[in-house]
Amino acid sequence: MKVCIIGTGYVGLSTGVCLAFLGHQVHCLDVNEQKIAGLRKGVLPIYEPGLAELFECSTKNLTFTTDAASAIHDAEVVFITVGTPSLPDGHADLQYIQAAAEMTGLHLGRQFAVVVNKSTVPVGTNRTVEGWVSEAFEKSHTSNVRKNFAVASNPEFLRQGSAIHDSLYADRIVIGSDNPAALQKLQDLYAPLIQQSFQSPEFLPRPAGCKSVPVVATDLTSAEIIKYAANAFLALKISFANEMAELAEVVNADITHVIQGMGMDRRIGSQFLQAGLGWGGSCFGKDTAALVSTAQDNGVEMKIVSAARHVNYSQRERLVARLVGELGSLRGKTIGLLGLAFKPNTDDLRDAPALDIARRLVNRGAIVRAHDPIAMDRARREAAGLGIQFCESVEEMADSADALLLVTEWPEYRNLAWENLLNRMSTPLVLDGRNFLNGKMLQSLGFQYCGIGKGQIADKRPDMARISAEEAILARQMTLHNRGHFAWASAGAIQLSVK
Ligand code: NAD
Repeated sequence: MKVCIIGTGYVGLSTGVCLAFLGHQVHCLDVNEQKIAGLRKGVLPIYEPGLAELFECSTKNLTFTTDAASAIHDAEVVFITVGTPSLPDGHADLQYIQAAAEMTGLHLGRQFAVVVNKSTVPVGTNRTVEGWVSEAFEKSHTSNVRKNFAVASNPEFLRQGSAIHDSLYADRIVIGSDNPAALQKLQDLYAPLIQQSFQSPEFLPRPAGCKSVPVVATDLTSAEIIKYAANAFLALKISFANEMAELAEVVNADITHVIQGMGMDRRIGSQFLQAGLGWGGSCFGKDTAALVSTAQDNGVEMKIVSAARHVNYSQRERLVARLVGELGSLRGKTIGLLGLAFKPNTDDLRDAPALDIARRLVNRGAIVRAHDPIAMDRARREAAGLGIQFCESVEEMADSADALLLVTEWPEYRNLAWENLLNRMSTPLVLDGRNFLNGKMLQSLGFQYCGIGKGQIADKRPDMARISAEEAILARQMTLHNRGHFAWASAGAIQLSVK
């Protein structure tokens, strides 16, 4: 099938490469000329396990272009996979969707085409997309050319860090349209995935028991809600664990045991039931914000989702508070951040807790160092203004440091030669923001180890009221100083602090 993908980011590129691997002819279109020039030379703009290998074996079915006309004209399926970032008020910014929809309408050919929105968009957006495509089509085609397209929603559930695995071996495929022919076209496009009839690549073998992928075929609006509802539910599972962790800390319990006991109940499940620094990344923050705002527009208050957001953004503040509780004033103290990416196996820094925490620490006068196995180059480019000292090795970062904060649970951090770090540090304090390190081993080496929700702070609980008041001032300063990636996180911090 002839496919055009508009937007070659995490979702677009992963989708395009997978569809090409399955034998479809895929044009990947992007407005970013540098990205397209790189892709033409085989330079991948993102890191995803298995992407480079799958790209390598799919190149004969892939083209990369900035020329919309040639990419869209003969496509039977046009995917829109552009970004939908947050506006300052929490609503999704649909400007990229509108531009992609209008571009599609401008260049659609005579054959029946399905315009599939894979970007995460608020309820009702795809009806608007239909209007944008239609208007652009009418403006650019003579009246004797019949409009011959349908709009569908096909929300994406891949996880960064396992995007290719999740695309090839999905838990489910959701397709929504009010046009039966569009639904059928998408079933045909995805047939090799649905039936798992493709030869799985050696480097990403089919998981045991994955014999077929279930399809949820529904109307346009329900498909839109499924995506937001799924993300919100996962987000609140994390926040629930964090709320329990706060209680566990005070009553001297261990949250890791609490969630282990909870998660073994199959009705609950252990995935995403994880206490720590909370979520970051490009999706949960903006999608929960958009859900709250869209519901509000429709007269519905999302109390649970709002609470999950509140708990999540408090975690960043709480970790800094914990550090203040341990070290006193942070002015002049050297703090090393283990990990910058918002999660392991990706170099994505969008809404990364590490950057938010770094900014809070810098604002308190701390010297902030950071290390990440993959995301350092991106951080040097995207977080240059934050005043972070990037370190090539953890040893360099530990030299005369007053504390190390584990922010991203990269496996290599668990296996560090910790015994070599102890004597380098001024204060051997390790704060484990993901409950990921072997605390007992670190303590036996002589480190002071603190996890999250592990009941060690009953006697030195930080004064959250005082710290919140300070944070409110800092957060306001941050909002003035930081835009782009950090705007929404900062807005979250202000909301939290003034409540
Ligand atoms: P991204 O920012 O990585 O990529 C978007 C790409 O679209 C960029 O390369 C940009 O240059 C391009 N673009 C913007 N406007 C364009 C236009 N008019 N024409 C052509 N290209 C254009 O975004 P992403 O992370 O891939 O996310 C895309 C969408 O998928 C978002 O709505 C997101 O919420 C959703 N989503 C993301 C993930 C994820 O893990 N990243 C998972 C599920 C869903």
